Amino acid sequence: MSQLFLRTLREDPVDAEVASHKLLVRAGYIRRAAPGIYTWLPLGLSVLRKVEEIIRQEMSAIGAQEVHFPALLPREPYEATNRWTEYGEGLFRLQDRKGADYLLAPTHEEMFTLLVKDLFSSYKDLPLSLYQIQNKYRDEARPRAGLLRGREFIMKDSYSFDIDEAGLDASYAAHRGAYLKIFARLGLEVLPVSATAGAMGGSKSEEFLFPTEIGEDTFVRSAGGYAANVEAVTTVVPAEIDFSAAPAARVLDTPDTPTIETLVDAANQLAPRTGDDGPWTAADTLKNVVLAVTLPTGERQIVVIGVPGDRAVDLKRVEANIGSYLPIAGEIGLEAANEADLKKQSLLVKGYIGPGQSLDAAVLGSEGAAKLLYLVDPRIVAGTSWITGANAAGQHVFGLVAGRDFSWDGTIECTDVRAGDPAPDGSGPLETARGIEMGHIFQLGRKYAEALELKVLDQNGKQVTVTMGSYGVGVTRAVAALAEANHDDKGLIWPRAVAPADIHVVAVGRGEEIFATAAQLAEDLSAAGLNVIYDDRPKVSPGVKFGDAELLGVPTILAVGRGLADGVVEIKDRRSGEAENIAVDKAVDYVVSAVRGQ
Ligand code: ATP
Ligand code: MG
Repeated sequence: MSQLFLRTLREDPVDAEVASHKLLVRAGYIRRAAPGIYTWLPLGLSVLRKVEEIIRQEMSAIGAQEVHFPALLPREPYEATNRWTEYGEGLFRLQDRKGADYLLAPTHEEMFTLLVKDLFSSYKDLPLSLYQIQNKYRDEARPRAGLLRGREFIMKDSYSFDIDEAGLDASYAAHRGAYLKIFARLGLEVLPVSATAGAMGGSKSEEFLFPTEIGEDTFVRSAGGYAANVEAVTTVVPAEIDFSAAPAARVLDTPDTPTIETLVDAANQLAPRTGDDGPWTAADTLKNVVLAVTLPTGERQIVVIGVPGDRAVDLKRVEANIGSYLPIAGEIGLEAANEADLKKQSLLVKGYIGPGQSLDAAVLGSEGAAKLLYLVDPRIVAGTSWITGANAAGQHVFGLVAGRDFSWDGTIECTDVRAGDPAPDGSGPLETARGIEMGHIFQLGRKYAEALELKVLDQNGKQVTVTMGSYGVGVTRAVAALAEANHDDKGLIWPRAVAPADIHVVAVGRGEEIFATAAQLAEDLSAAGLNVIYDDRPKVSPGVKFGDAELLGVPTILAVGRGLADGVVEIKDRRSGEAENIAVDKAVDYVVSAVRGQ
């Protein structure tokens, strides 16, 4: 400790909100270089290397081979897949002295695809899985929480190459298994949840979430084992209803009812519902929300979304699921339409918007001048009857039947997911929780192979496009998650698998004998193959030394102090706080078996 490049801090860094960020900085594991960009100090680097090693071993166990790409890459491959544009403001772009465009890679699908194209050409070369552990760069809008969301971070990214779907399924399953082993070895309880593929394209996808209050991802789970990212939750679709006997829709004057609440009140006064269903509620109304999508080209497109009035539109769910309805793939901007947008749509009457093929003021879902994309929540099925806007100020239409009186361009998962909603697989009501995304696996399919023309010859000598998977683990994020999962108010408490040392020896007090014995023990422990931190600082008080030992978080602390007069040293478990006095000559064996035993 007298020579270690380390300064522990008493105060939390001012910009730190979460425990892992505060403690990793205070314990001298990392230092901030710029927002979202960190320097690794010796102890931090040691933890990081251990996490990497566990990942390497499990990747190697499924036959994946390690390569290493540059982080600084030319524009062209990313242009070919359109990601140079699609990535939007998240991409760090730069130019060389000749003015040629480069980027700092946010992820490497293009490069791996091209590398395999370069060298392999036959079905006999497949299946193949390659990976790297490497710096990634993303100009995150809100770099926060230290290592949890960096602008430079380390990712393990792997890519699988197969000739057909069955091969891709097998590669995906192998990665999934490896990920479960990696997180188990790290001692991180991680939950695989269904996810949407988002801007990556492709089909099947799962995220590995570490459940914690400070997580930025909301997910849901049921007691019966369903778990999904909120973006990926699917709605239980009600059965269609026979509408042959449904009464005709009628328009009523409903002045001053621009909100769902005022509308429900007015409906119950003007046209009270009789029968078992009781008075009208917000769930009987159809709310039409006007959104503005900014396409990757920068163009602004208006989209109208119809949802039951008791539900809110969740923009993140819309963003994740609207892709197939837009004219171009890529990262989009999404917000509520503003006054200027609405002014341009003269047929949309704010507060009274409704779908209406059969209505006079036909606006949505109908051919004509004001044809706008009209998408609805999957609960709006044929035969359901609604109270909704009549596209005229102060008027609503009652008994507007879906499939009879109006149609739509498609359905979209877009409403807020609530605790108590049914799980789509019938496994019970959903509860919501928060988590940190530790890893993400995707079946990419042929998107990248097609764009970059990665083909091989199949058994019949025919050129076929390769199908790919892409699999990421946040390595630096894992270090932060480990700190989040393993700390108390005094400091870090590393699991043995990743601890920066096996044992922290502290010499407390003055006498020469204390220091000589502590030094000898440190040497013997080291000779026994353990990694030792020895606090040999001569003029530092016992309180400071113990405080530092607890802050650094090595799992076992061995204190040589006053007890030495009686021939004992104290061995303390950092996690339980339990301490035992052990005879000096038994201390090495005791510690070695404690370390090996776990
Ligand atoms: P997020 O939703 O958290 O922004 P992402 O879905 O964009 O992550 P992927 O592209 O799936 O991330 O990257 C694979 C893994 O890399 C993630 O599961 C995560 O563990 C890690 N990761 C992504 N972005 C960051 C970041 N800014 N800082 C640290 N780790 C990150
Ligand atoms: Mg992801």
